[in-house]
Amino acid sequence: MNTPHRKIIHIDMDAFYASVALRDRPELQGKPVVVAWDAPRSVICAASYEARRYGLRSAMAVTTAKRLCPQAVYVAPDFDRYRAISAHIHGIFRRYTPHIEPLSLDEAYLDVSGYDGPLPYARDIARAIRADIAAETGLTASAGIAPNKFLAKIASDWRKPNGQFVIAPSQVLPFLAQLPVGKIPGVGKVTERKMQQLGWHTVGQLAQAERAQLVLHFGRWGHRLYDLARGQDSRPVQSRHERQQLSTEITLPEDESLHRIERHLPALAADVAAHLRRKQLSGSCITLKLKSADFHTLTRSQTFSAPLEGESALLQAARPLLQRFPDLPQGYRLIGLGVSHFATAAQLPLWESVP
Ligand SMILES: [Mg+2]
Repeated sequence: MNTPHRKIIHIDMDAFYASVALRDRPELQGKPVVVAWDAPRSVICAASYEARRYGLRSAMAVTTAKRLCPQAVYVAPDFDRYRAISAHIHGIFRRYTPHIEPLSLDEAYLDVSGYDGPLPYARDIARAIRADIAAETGLTASAGIAPNKFLAKIASDWRKPNGQFVIAPSQVLPFLAQLPVGKIPGVGKVTERKMQQLGWHTVGQLAQAERAQLVLHFGRWGHRLYDLARGQDSRPVQSRHERQQLSTEITLPEDESLHRIERHLPALAADVAAHLRRKQLSGSCITLKLKSADFHTLTRSQTFSAPLEGESALLQAARPLLQRFPDLPQGYRLIGLGVSHFATAAQLPLWESVP
């Protein structure tokens, strides 16, 4: 099945907590501002761009920060205030899409694939959202626009602060070819050094590695790295509500190859369908989960434009997912099937009200 490219926007407020402090206290403009409890053992919650010039970073110990930049101004965090602004920003997002996945108070993924308003491109939607945020909160945000969450998150960092960057589907591979591996979310200093020692400095080089090599060096995360290096990330944008999942799973009596596992799908689909029927639910996202013989869990998901109704629809959706798993030589020990993205009450078909 050939699905059209998704349009994902990652919105990230610029130095959020510090920017709120600078906005509320204009006399701090141009000064290095640190949001933290001014106590011996506390760490920095946020550093303004001015403070970052002195090497100050969030999560840095305040004692270290004071050595690096004694003249920094300390402002106590005010989470009620941040939450209120975050709620306002989410209200702005909802003008453009209902598909919003918050990552924290100042970051969210938006899926605007289904947008049918007047703006022609996702980049225009991102620009409009950032303009609304600036006009209504006095704060700046940066945005990344890409076909999936992984790339959108990298892109939002590309033109920070107060900027945006697009990775179009045709640009994904050229973009990744030059990207330092350290830019992959989750690759910290230690992993970065390890990758470099293995000769993988760029994501392009990482994409030359065999899947087995990546699993050998990075465990189950290697599977994900294999996909990411190719610019592939099928994770849906899920609101809190959508993340709820109804699922079932079976542990196999003995480890089985990917090919043999397929015969369990009808029973799983029937069970999930019966569950959904009892709860009067239907969902548009299906997830297949496999646990390898050495206890690594892998999942593959697909979101559809309409809810999947009934056993055969679930089965039809699940079969192609199975082909997206690696055919591990050690086989699999567990298979699970789940449905999420439940339709809201207004979207439920009429028969739900028949007694
Ligand atoms: Mg931020």
